[in-house]
Amino acid sequence: MNFRMGRRRRIFEGKAKVLFEGPEPGTLVQYFKDDATAFNNKKRGTITGKGVLNNRISEYLMTRLNEIGVPTHFMRRLNMREQLIRQVEIIPIEVVMRNIVAGSLAKRMGIPEGTILPRSIVEFYYKKDDLGNPMVSDEHITCFGWASPQEIDEIMALSLRINDYLSGLFLGIGLKLVDFKLEFGRLWDNDDMRIVLADEISPDNCRLWDVKTNEKMDKDRFRCDLGRVEEAYQEVARRLGIMPEAAQKPESE
Ligand code: UDP
Repeated sequence: MNFRMGRRRRIFEGKAKVLFEGPEPGTLVQYFKDDATAFNNKKRGTITGKGVLNNRISEYLMTRLNEIGVPTHFMRRLNMREQLIRQVEIIPIEVVMRNIVAGSLAKRMGIPEGTILPRSIVEFYYKKDDLGNPMVSDEHITCFGWASPQEIDEIMALSLRINDYLSGLFLGIGLKLVDFKLEFGRLWDNDDMRIVLADEISPDNCRLWDVKTNEKMDKDRFRCDLGRVEEAYQEVARRLGIMPEAAQKPESE
């Protein structure tokens, strides 16, 4: 176990990450585990090296987003599995952006996976594992006080911008950004509040298909037992040009 893990106070443990108290007030350390879950926790497993890769991939994508003016909780990567983040008040909504039909949308609507959407779709889910993250509308979000109408507008605008930017970024490395999930938080600065992108962006919460072959390069390989899960995450990192030394592509490929 990492030295820091034993020393720092554990604030929260999720399915794929652990949050520890940070070195300064208002900061946290986000530790990336190799654990993987799917289908609302019914399927569990480990993807060796996933935490290391997701730490790098999320660092890279959050840094690029920061550079175009999208505020994020990311501060800097600390080591192989940890990054320093700003402590935010997480808004209990999962925002899903879709460009191509896949996953639950294909199932719910009976539309074949791979159908290209005439325009991007934004969906909201209430972040509540015990309830299986039910889909909600902005009416539920404002009625139950999870976010204000202004906050929803801000979240929508940021999500569309992130989608446009990341779609282009991934297309540049031969990957289609099919869909992905985002989480946002409130960052307080005295009396001022800003909405910032939180959580992570990685193949755990994006669907990425190879442009030429449509091969799945994301957590669907784990969900659907397609095999070569680690290799897919490594390939995404490799194409982004951020392959960590310790996780080189196997010679045999
Ligand atoms: N997603 C996620 N966490 C969730 C649910 C979905 O990260 O709890 C991501 C998922 O990886 C995919 C997108 O959101 O990229 C859309 O997922 P979908 O609604 O199709 O659900 P799934 O098929 O994953 O159950």
